Amino acid sequence: MIPTGDATAILPTSSTAPITVIGTAAIRDTFDEVCLQQAINSRQAPGVTDVVLNPDAHLGYGAPVGCVMVSPTHIYPGPVGVDIKCSMSLLQLDLPADAIADRRTRREIISAICQRTPTGAGKGQRSVPKSRNVNRTLGRQLVVQGASADVCQQLGIPSEWADRCEDAFHLGHDDSAEALDIRLATLLEQRHMSNFSDKMAQLGSYGGGNHFGECEVVEVDDNRRAREVAETFGLRDGKVAFLSHCGSRGFGHNLASGQFNALQSKFSRWDIPLPAGDRQLVYAPLGTDEANAYLDDMALGANFATVNHLLINALVLEAFQEVIPGTTGSLVYFISHNIARKEIVNQRPAWVHRKGATRAFPGGHFELRDTPFAQTGHPILLPGNPRDGSAVMVADAGAEKSCYSVNHGAGRVLGRRHAKRVLDQAKIDSELDRRDILSNCRRYPKDEAPAAYKNFEEVLKSVKTAGLASEVARLKARFVIKD
Ligand code: 5GP
Ligand code: MN
Ligand code: MN
Repeated sequence: MIPTGDATAILPTSSTAPITVIGTAAIRDTFDEVCLQQAINSRQAPGVTDVVLNPDAHLGYGAPVGCVMVSPTHIYPGPVGVDIKCSMSLLQLDLPADAIADRRTRREIISAICQRTPTGAGKGQRSVPKSRNVNRTLGRQLVVQGASADVCQQLGIPSEWADRCEDAFHLGHDDSAEALDIRLATLLEQRHMSNFSDKMAQLGSYGGGNHFGECEVVEVDDNRRAREVAETFGLRDGKVAFLSHCGSRGFGHNLASGQFNALQSKFSRWDIPLPAGDRQLVYAPLGTDEANAYLDDMALGANFATVNHLLINALVLEAFQEVIPGTTGSLVYFISHNIARKEIVNQRPAWVHRKGATRAFPGGHFELRDTPFAQTGHPILLPGNPRDGSAVMVADAGAEKSCYSVNHGAGRVLGRRHAKRVLDQAKIDSELDRRDILSNCRRYPKDEAPAAYKNFEEVLKSVKTAGLASEVARLKARFVIKD
């Protein structure tokens, strides 16, 4: 079904609806039938003009995780998913790797972080002694404004970090913040938002499952371009950094599931045919009240996710400072992999839905013109797994063919239940121990083990040989914080 021998292949679904597939032959073997069927369904759904399947692709919600779906006319909540604006962020510390060589120091840092940023479903700042207080008024402000100077100041977040965000804030459907104010007021009257204050108290936390914080040592690639780009990114070779993965927590989940329920019941009430009969592919044509409500809710959730990441980074820095006084740190970047953005595709505006995919604008892209990355392209943060490392990349001109997107990680190769059944706990723990990688978990979660994910080298090779992006640095894990 998929042509072989080339890292970029076109999957012929029908003569009028090709799909761009990024993957070496070994990676293309990891795409199972259900994942490919979801890609085809997404491509043939109303108003969709492009679908890109990335090397980390696997079964998702309506569309595969690890895909890009573009439409100039329709918005699709499924391919954004329940964790609106799930993202990666990287904090560079001015600490040499030696400073954390000692296991006891790392244990102290893990404990200082866990006293500020809880992990686990439903957990929030009320579960830890040293987090920040987020009351209802501040909550209402931050979901409308995102990382505004005032919000950052109230939370003790360095305001210059806002310049290191793919998007520091999101506006409503009519490009105004007022639309979000109005939408929020309506939402707060609804039953599924009665726990708004509790959801706001989750700011500054990771949540459960695949979300994590990971202490890294940066290894900048040994070539001139990588060294120059690393300098612009603020990456420091041989120094400690901290990678975070989380999204919009319970608030984003409430918004997304509210939207799915509302749209699915409209489709059924009005007897609208579902794309490929899949309820997860409900959509709203742009300009309708339904699309406007979705775009507003997505923006509210995305604003929460943004401030959530920035606060986590501020708390992580504070934790390092508690253990190693005088430590300083700066944000390298904060970038999402679950969001729809309005961009220019094929010379016209369209909504680019990235479901487990990362934006990849190369140097010279007009959207980067007022950012520190105008010349180089922005940092692309790619988690792999704690055993084999993660990567920072930068886009190349070839990224245009993947709608300026790359993968968002290694991607699952074993489902959670499958991983729990077949993987060996002692082997997982001893492998990490042998590499001197610590964790807050007494036993590392089996369904999150490195072997549950695809071969990261093969994933990166797919991206590089397709000409989408180049490596700038590797990140080598020193400890992991997981649920
Ligand atoms: P998501 O859960 O957002 O779909 O995937 C995020 C990606 O993060 C996965 O594809 C996987 O490659 C990566 N990942 C998951 N857990 C860890 C971890 O503990 N450390 C690192 N470095 N990467 C991870
Ligand atoms: Mn997530
Ligand atoms: Mn994620």
